[in-house]
Amino acid sequence: MSNLIDPHAKPLPSLSARHIDPHSYPDGVAFLHGQYLPMSQAKISVLDWGFLHSDATYDTVHVWGGRFFRLDLHLDRFFGGLEKLRMTIPFDRDGVAEILHNCVALSGHRAAYVEMLCTRGASPTFSRDPRDAVNRFMAFAVPFGSVADAEQLQRGLHVAISDKVRIPPASIDPTIKNYHWLDLVRGLYDAYDRGAETALLLDFNGNVAEGPGFNVFCVDDGKLSTPAVGVLPGITRRTVFDLGAEAGLAVAAADVSVAALRQSDEVFITSTAGGIMPVTMIDGIPVADGKVGAITSRLMAIYWRKHEDPAWSSPVRYP
Ligand code: PLP
Repeated sequence: MSNLIDPHAKPLPSLSARHIDPHSYPDGVAFLHGQYLPMSQAKISVLDWGFLHSDATYDTVHVWGGRFFRLDLHLDRFFGGLEKLRMTIPFDRDGVAEILHNCVALSGHRAAYVEMLCTRGASPTFSRDPRDAVNRFMAFAVPFGSVADAEQLQRGLHVAISDKVRIPPASIDPTIKNYHWLDLVRGLYDAYDRGAETALLLDFNGNVAEGPGFNVFCVDDGKLSTPAVGVLPGITRRTVFDLGAEAGLAVAAADVSVAALRQSDEVFITSTAGGIMPVTMIDGIPVADGKVGAITSRLMAIYWRKHEDPAWSSPVRYP
């Protein structure tokens, strides 16, 4: 196994660059085909079922201040998804953790977005039987990216409620983190058409579900609720339950109607990509007084403080 990164590779632009050359790649390191590579060299076959059929599962953990945040929970979810999809990889939990550490360490990033993924792969005979495919594991570390930018974190996101229904759990088990995103992407375009910055989709009963890459919470009379069904059990969502328990706040998973969301005292979204992020406008109407709520601000502060706490985070093994 080679650990070499091309020393002559050009410095790469950051993910936040506004106009990204379609032939450029974020500055990072991938693990693929048993090798650590610059992102520009991490390539897979177009015949891979991950690409052709979205037949894949993945997980994203982040590194902040040189520390992984709740890596064990991400590994649990990833290995759970592999089992449910009947995929096998040649690494156990410790092996995957080591690869993630190496990707971050080789990239040198102290704030990183770190993904582990497995595709169905392709069959050597091009058989249409998924059991013949050789599953493909890969991982990468790139600079940390957030759903909300600095200004949006300060003043709150403006969201639109889409009429697109999130893919129901009877079709795709949402506990398997997946790339079935066409509903979410169509929701995003709806939101942009209506002058909003991101979208919330509904579940099959017309209640609020989740958005492109995030869960949602509302706060009423000091009590927090988040949709119970048809959503990815996000690790940041779980973290809000844990922070709520520590801070003495009631947090429940329950149906959240659109009317209830609109009338909430506070609304926020949660994702590994950005943490806890306030929402202050829904369909052009302010949430309560249109300012970031007190409970949201408090949770945001505690969430980031936990990144230094050894009970919640672990140091990357940099050389
Ligand atoms: N919902 C969906 C559909 C997601 O893709 C994600 C993250 O990518 C989330 C929710 C948030 O999950 P987490 O907090 O684990 O990042």
